[in-house]
Amino acid sequence: MSSLPTEQSEALYQRAKRVIPGGVSSPVRAFRAVGGTPRFIRSARGAYVTDVDGNEYVDLVGSWGPMLLGHAHPEVLDAVARAAQHGTSFGAPTEAEIDLAEMIIDRTPVEQVRLVNSGTEATMSALRLARGYTGRDKVIKFEGCYHGHVDSLLVAAGSGAATMGHPSSPGVTQATTADTIVCTYNDRESVRQAFRGHGNNIACIIAEAAAGNMGVVPPAEEDGENFTAFLSRIAHEHGALLITDEVMTGFRVSRSGQWGLDGQHGDLMTFGKVMGGGFPAAAFGGRSEIMQQLSPVGPVYQAGTLSGNPVATAAGSTTLRLATEEVYAQIDRSSELLRAEIGKALDAFQVPHVIQHTGNLFSGFFTPEGTTEVPDWKAAATQREDVFAAFFHGLLANGVYLGPSCYEAWFLSAAHDDAALDRIFDALPKAAAAARL
Ligand code: PLP
Repeated sequence: MSSLPTEQSEALYQRAKRVIPGGVSSPVRAFRAVGGTPRFIRSARGAYVTDVDGNEYVDLVGSWGPMLLGHAHPEVLDAVARAAQHGTSFGAPTEAEIDLAEMIIDRTPVEQVRLVNSGTEATMSALRLARGYTGRDKVIKFEGCYHGHVDSLLVAAGSGAATMGHPSSPGVTQATTADTIVCTYNDRESVRQAFRGHGNNIACIIAEAAAGNMGVVPPAEEDGENFTAFLSRIAHEHGALLITDEVMTGFRVSRSGQWGLDGQHGDLMTFGKVMGGGFPAAAFGGRSEIMQQLSPVGPVYQAGTLSGNPVATAAGSTTLRLATEEVYAQIDRSSELLRAEIGKALDAFQVPHVIQHTGNLFSGFFTPEGTTEVPDWKAAATQREDVFAAFFHGLLANGVYLGPSCYEAWFLSAAHDDAALDRIFDALPKAAAAARL
């Protein structure tokens, strides 16, 4: 498939599989959806990653979102080194946590935040808080929206409008997901139906602020009302809360995330990825009145040995400080150019596709001929995975590292300069030719 040497990656993959299930610490890294040898990365700088065989790729994964400034940004490295010199974890409060919390509050509508270690922890804790605050049990989530591997949110995709959740992973019990109601993204009637059936016992709706885990699917407008605005309205009509998950979009699609683009936000919001600058840091936040329900002030328990870690917070606040409006303007421009080039290349080889975006975050869908938009999971799932795999390997063989799944967003950074973009533009027609199956 690839003409590039992969012997060292292959050897490490075989070694890794003996001690780590599937050879990877997170499933999508294993190339299962596209086949071939996952690349073991030796180093990364700016817009590029280099694997253990010495192949250099323009990186469109960006650690799945965090690397907004590019890899190994000198000022972030400096901040990390300086923080580490003073000790790497104390289990006691630090000024650095306040700095990061204030930066998040400055950029978003939340009044207070609690720092955690991963997006999964952020959504899990926000759910617990919403349930504790409302005294209700049920949660609405959307098919195709991913909120980390929280048990109660790991429910079957494809289950249709307002279906009661069934666990999509062994080990997640029926009881855990019995309180999860799965609705269809951008389908208002499915949400109304859920409230008709369970209105008095719905604690919250959780939705990605713009879906990015079934490919990029922005909230649709209907009669002048954005889907997220509708969710907020219907939740409040029934005494429930809305949680907008900005783990992927936060501080990426604009300085203020998706909220900065469409002005819509939940009563609680979750953040991760960019705010950790490549380290494990995430957060959830909201109105003080709700956040004050958290321990030690309130009764809803939430904690973490490494939460607010001084090295992670230094990386995060330095990243946010450097993420100026100019940085976003540049990434927006790169995204626009790249989207146009992808469209041109796929059109030239008659590969059917749809490209969708919210701000600079975008993805290409390899949907059947005639598809003009992808509003939900059902539409996203019509993609030709074999076409995507051929496209993916075409890019990889030509020095471009894209996420190895057709359901992932493409991540650009401020380090993707003209030279990096030109390399992608050169690779695109070759990948498009390979995708004409
Ligand atoms: N929420 C969203 C929207 C995400 O995209 C992700 C991860 O991709 C998560 C939550 C989970 O974050 P983490 O992988 O840091 O646990």
